[in-house]
Amino acid sequence: MDLKGKIREIQDFPKEGISFKDVTTLLADGEAYAYAIDKMLASVEDVEFDVVLGPEARGFLIGAPIAYAARKAFVPVRKPGKLPYETYRFEYELEYGTDVLEIHKDAIKPGARVLIADDLLATGGTVESIIRMVEEFGAEVVGCVFLIELSFLNGREKLGGCRAESLVYY
Ligand code: IMP
Repeated sequence: MDLKGKIREIQDFPKEGISFKDVTTLLADGEAYAYAIDKMLASVEDVEFDVVLGPEARGFLIGAPIAYAARKAFVPVRKPGKLPYETYRFEYELEYGTDVLEIHKDAIKPGARVLIADDLLATGGTVESIIRMVEEFGAEVVGCVFLIELSFLNGREKLGGCRAESLVYY
């Protein structure tokens, strides 16, 4: 299936010079969405994981269906002030600025094997910071899955050799 053909590109969003990859057009096609999730899960079929971790907001759209299909736990990483219980807070860098994310303090157990899922790997700043955060919990990131990888940004180099699989490359 031509997944790239399902992704809409918006020029100069959210800033001039950025060619934004809009996955909503892929999600709007039920067959393409299911195919992409199945393929992403298959790409890590040899990886043993306990929990899927997805960053707000598009990481939920990718991570939750992967967790459901694999019958594994899903843990949301959220924007500040959204989680009701005690949180661990960490800053991270985006392709276009800095941001802060939070996770529930008891969401990741020491020794947990974590799979990170997101729609897109750009500079790698988001995932790099999540990997560090997971390690501070005494857990381990055993893999990362992305729908899209902007390979020209070399974000993969920031993942410290962590296994990373992407479906569509730009
Ligand atoms: P990174 O931290 O630079 O790798 O940026 C990745 C994060 O930014 C992901 O959570 C993406 O959802 C978001 N992002 C960056 N560029 C795009 C884009 O072109 N389309 C959709 N999301 C993007």
